[in-house]
Amino acid sequence: MLVKLSARGLRALSATSPTPFVARISENPALSESERASNLLLFPGEASALPQGFRGYLLRRAMQVSDRDNVYLLGSEHYYLRTGDVVRIDPARGSVSALYRAASRSNTFLVTERCDNFCVMCSQPPKRHDDSWLVDDLEQAIPLISSEAAEIGITGGEPALLGERLVQLLVLLRRCLPRTSVHVLSNGRRFADSSFARRIGDVKHPDLMFGIPLYSDLPEEHDYVVQARGAFDETVRGILNLKRRRVRVELRFVIHRETVTRMPEFARFVARNLTFVDHVALMGLEPVGFAKANIEALWIDPVDYKGALGEAVMTLERAGMATSIYNHQLCTLDPRLHRFARKSISDWKNIYIETCDSCHWKEDCGGFFASASLRRSKGIVAYT
Ligand code: SF4
Repeated sequence: MLVKLSARGLRALSATSPTPFVARISENPALSESERASNLLLFPGEASALPQGFRGYLLRRAMQVSDRDNVYLLGSEHYYLRTGDVVRIDPARGSVSALYRAASRSNTFLVTERCDNFCVMCSQPPKRHDDSWLVDDLEQAIPLISSEAAEIGITGGEPALLGERLVQLLVLLRRCLPRTSVHVLSNGRRFADSSFARRIGDVKHPDLMFGIPLYSDLPEEHDYVVQARGAFDETVRGILNLKRRRVRVELRFVIHRETVTRMPEFARFVARNLTFVDHVALMGLEPVGFAKANIEALWIDPVDYKGALGEAVMTLERAGMATSIYNHQLCTLDPRLHRFARKSISDWKNIYIETCDSCHWKEDCGGFFASASLRRSKGIVAYT
């Protein structure tokens, strides 16, 4: 029986429940009985040889299946799936989505699309709907992730809008993945509530950091960028409360036309008032979402703010603060700043262009966002 694949790349070949579920991929048909219940077997052989007891089966060829339930034909766009990946299967929609890729160094979980900021350059524009199923999925996925995972990211929307559920998520991560560092992107406002910040601190996660954006030393300028009056005060109070509870905090400053002018003053403000934060990241713009829609108003060529960036970095370094430059190509930076530049773009959205092929710096250079074709710096030049 030949089966026509749905556009989402999965088709049931045998009886299956319509309820979505989360499972880990395995290519090992000899898994123990207890492990089989939480694994989907990715099977290259004949359907007649399918071992018993797996949560389900993924095949790459359509074939008759008579005596196993939960057998699916996998579309070729998902042939990248490998042992250790964690996926969400939705039989009714015929979809499979990778929640965790064992081979990737960038595994970030979106836990909500809701947000109380409305940033002019937001890469993930907020939505208001109830998306609590995202956390339901993550709670199922975490126990299936390898304990060797180096880092997990949590992002939104605004993860802190989950309230107590965020606390429980961190507890689960600490319990199931105690050696995995966790990085949460948050606007920090909800932690102005000191009791919430205390709950986060009480988790006592051994390797947790909150990345919190602050876009100016002036409250009105930060509030304009995030389109929320009073946000600056709440964010700064949130940072203070988290640090009071010994939660590590990274400040994030995205560089664009609305923030670049005060970048040196911002650095002086941080060096004077927030020296206790653990890391400061000065970041290039990712041209997706609102940043793409507002690109005319926001884009500024990195070579045109070399001086301001250099001044900001040196101010922070003199204050003894750990400082990084994210999302910049080395050729657009003053060479004195190369030691601060990190390869920060997630692997699945990171590209290099033809010019880079002959460049000696390519190995150390962070390259481009795949979405960055809208605007490229006039300073891109290969070092040969
Ligand atoms: S030419 Fe390419 S690889 Fe070389 S520094 Fe510039 S962006 Fe990086």
